[in-house]
This record gives sequence, structure tokens and C-alpha cells, in this order.
Amino acid sequence: MGIGSDLMRGLGFGDPVIRLGVTGLSRAGKTVFITSLVANLMDRGRMHALRAAADGSLKTAWLQPQPDDTVPRFDFERHLAAMTGTEPHWPDSTRHVSQLRLSLRIEPRGLFSGLRGPQTVHLDIVDYPGEWLLDLRLMEKDFGDWSTEVLSRIDGRPGAGEYLDALSGLDPVDRFDEPTAQRLAEAYTAHLQATREAGWSDCTPGRFLIPGELAGSPALTFAPLPEGLQGGKLYKEFRRRFDAYKSRVVKPFFRDHFARIDRQVVLVDVLGAIHQGPQAVEDMRRAMADILTAFRPGRAGWLAQLLGTRRVERILFAATKADHLHHTQHNRLTAILSATLREARDRADFSGARTEAMAIAALRATTEDIIRKEGDELPAVRGRLTDGRQAAFYPGELPADPSQLLNPARDGAQDWLDGDYAVMNFAPAPMTRRPGDGPPHIRLDRAAEFLIGDML
Ligand code: GDP
Repeated sequence: MGIGSDLMRGLGFGDPVIRLGVTGLSRAGKTVFITSLVANLMDRGRMHALRAAADGSLKTAWLQPQPDDTVPRFDFERHLAAMTGTEPHWPDSTRHVSQLRLSLRIEPRGLFSGLRGPQTVHLDIVDYPGEWLLDLRLMEKDFGDWSTEVLSRIDGRPGAGEYLDALSGLDPVDRFDEPTAQRLAEAYTAHLQATREAGWSDCTPGRFLIPGELAGSPALTFAPLPEGLQGGKLYKEFRRRFDAYKSRVVKPFFRDHFARIDRQVVLVDVLGAIHQGPQAVEDMRRAMADILTAFRPGRAGWLAQLLGTRRVERILFAATKADHLHHTQHNRLTAILSATLREARDRADFSGARTEAMAIAALRATTEDIIRKEGDELPAVRGRLTDGRQAAFYPGELPADPSQLLNPARDGAQDWLDGDYAVMNFAPAPMTRRPGDGPPHIRLDRAAEFLIGDML
């Protein structure tokens, strides 16, 4: 456990293992990404930019029982059947950590290839919610700091009024009672959920949004309290639960899952954030900087201790669902994500792994089209809506210069993607696949080449 892929090979532990972490906030596209990546590594007809697929050195790929007995297996077969069956639909999303092992048979290339014989590389894909990664920022805070920070920015956010109402009337000398604790935690969780749906990314504690088997446990039954309640029983108990959340929920996640990752892809619904407006874009770039902090070599003491000399070697930030745009706008999407990444690197003072930004669609649900409107020709995409109708849409425009979006104060806030974007609920398209082809995608092969190409 915890030994890097190259090291494993160096020490003669047998076949090399690459642990690929896949994360992103809820609905960013993790489940679709993993399902399509695995299907396209098994059937490589659409993976030309993955060098090992194009030159034929990747001979076969097959699923194996995954080696971690207590981690749920990623339900690949069910998700693939949903996406590619006779009535294609989107699979159920990520709700917890899960894992899958894909083994790849490689025929060595080059001068001495005949001497070395084929090799097997295991790709362990670990799927985990980005909300849990963002909990990292809680680790340096105590309950008082966290409460003050949350309550100072809560005004104006969805569900804030209800939570503040729930707080009013509490008295510091009150005794602790569980129904009050539950009422507060429920109101705070409802606020977090509404905030997340409105496009904010900084929603801690992340496990409140995706509780898994911890739902209803004391470690998830607390909420931020104003300073005025300090000294009371409720405050004391919530402070204790906050500490338990850090030591019993956040830390084990980093130890058991995060600490063992070699390569990471962070999926970001950039289009969704842009469509939501400047606040969501600002929040997205703060979240990206926070995520990079987790991967920074000079990170917080306890994490450095946990990771030892281990290091994530490559991190890909991928803007998902690029099939909502005509390809003529893809460069703009990539430029926006690259500019955000550059900024996030500066903010997080990041000088660790190789990073890259890319616009992808793990499952392409559209074809391109032109809409003629009042003498204009709009570059559109056509697809099947979730209600079965076929329709072509123009999502609206992305700015040619990312700074128009990232510095709205300087360049004047403007609405982007204000065309049909809101109604573009495409379902996966029914597929007629040639034998040997995986599901259709956009640049999934480039993403794979960046993430694992050097190991194949
Ligand atoms: P998760 O919560 O991160 O696991 O997200 P999912 O993988 O379940 O994706 C959430 C939703 O985003 C899906 O139900 C689809 O509606 C949409 N989606 C994800 N990937 C794509 C894609 O490549 N193309 C399109 N058009 N939609 C996608």
C-alpha cells in the first residue's frame, strides 16, 4: 500500500499499477467519464490520440476483480448498459468512493522489444466526490474559525434565511438536546444543498451533501454557530462533533484513498458555471485553487506526514460536456479553463505535478448543425432530448478572451451562454457502433494519453 507505480516495478513487486483518481463536484461527469474511458480502452477504435492504441502496442484490456476488498466496485456494466442500451439514458451519479481495475496488455515497442516480451499494467480507477476533497480546508480550522467564516458569507445565499431563523432564539445556557442538533443540521444541510445547486462550490462540510453510510451519525449532525453561543452545551457538543468529523471522516478518506493516487483527473462543469453567472465562475476558480492545494508538495503538516514522499505526477483539469458546443467554440472553452488553471496555480502557489487543461465530452450526445435565424448562421448542436424529441440548439457564445469572463469587474459583467443552454438536456444518442469502436466522445483519447500514455 502506498508505494508508487515506478517504485513497485523497481522493487520487483510484479506488474506495475497506476492509480488514477477521478474527481469533480457532483454532476461534473465522473460516472460518465469512467464508464466511457473504460469502454474506450477495451474497444479502441476511437482512441487515435492514445499512442499505445494507435501504434497497436496496447493489445488488450480487460476488467479484473479490484484489489481493495472493502471498497465498493464501480458498477461499470450497469452504467455502460444505461448509456448504450436500446433506450440510452444517463447512469446514476457518484455517491461514494468506488473503484475498478482494468488490466492492459502491452507489447513493448522499440529496438529491444523482442527481448522483453509483453507486459501487463494495471489501471486502478478510483472514483470519489470532489466535495470530499474540498473538506481539506477544514483541517486547518477549528470550529470557531469555521463557524465565523461560514456565517460571515452566508447572507444572500439560498436557504440562508431559514438557517439563520433556526439559529435565532437559541440561548448559550440551554442544555444540549438532540432534536435541536438535528433541526440545525437539517436546516444547514438544506442550505448547503440549495447553494450547491445554485452553482456555489465552497460548501463545507462536503460529506453533508454526499453522506453515504454516515447519514444521521453524530459526526454529520452539527452546524456553524455564532460566537454568542460559546460556552453553552450545544456549542461544546458541536465543537466536539466538528473535531470528530475531521479526525473520523476527513482524515481517513485522505489516508485510505487520496494518499495512494498517482494520476488525477478533476472534472469541472465549466459550461454550467459560466451559464450560472460570474459568482459561480469565481467560485469555480477558488475551488480549483483549493484542489491544487491538496496536491501541493509543501502542503499542510498532517497531509505531508500521511503522504511521505509520494506525489501525484499528473493532474488533468477537464471541462466536461463539450458536446453542448459546436467545435468552433471548443478552443474558447479550453482557453477559459487554461486561464482558470493558470490563476489557480498562482493562487495555490503550486509547483508540483504536471498539469493540463482540456475540453472533453466523455459521451458525445450531439452532432453539429447550423441554425438560420434572421439572416444569421448560428453554429449549433443537434441531439435527442430526454423526452425523446430531436432538436438543434445554439447555446450562446463564449467570450473570445477569457479575461472578459474572469475579470468581470474590469471588463464589465456580461451574460455568457445565454442562448438555449438552459434547455439543452440531451440524452445519450442511440448508437450504431462498428465492431471495435467504443462509445463516441470528444478528446477522451487525448485525456487518456496525458494521464496514462507514458506508462503504456
Ligand atoms: P457525477 O455526479 O460526477 O458522477 O456526474 P455524472 O457522470 O453522473 O454526470 C452528470 C450528468 O452530466 C449526466 O447525467 C449527464 O446529464 C451530464 N453529462 C456527463 N457527461 C456528459 C457528456 O459527455 N455529454 C453530455 N451531453 N452530458 C454529459
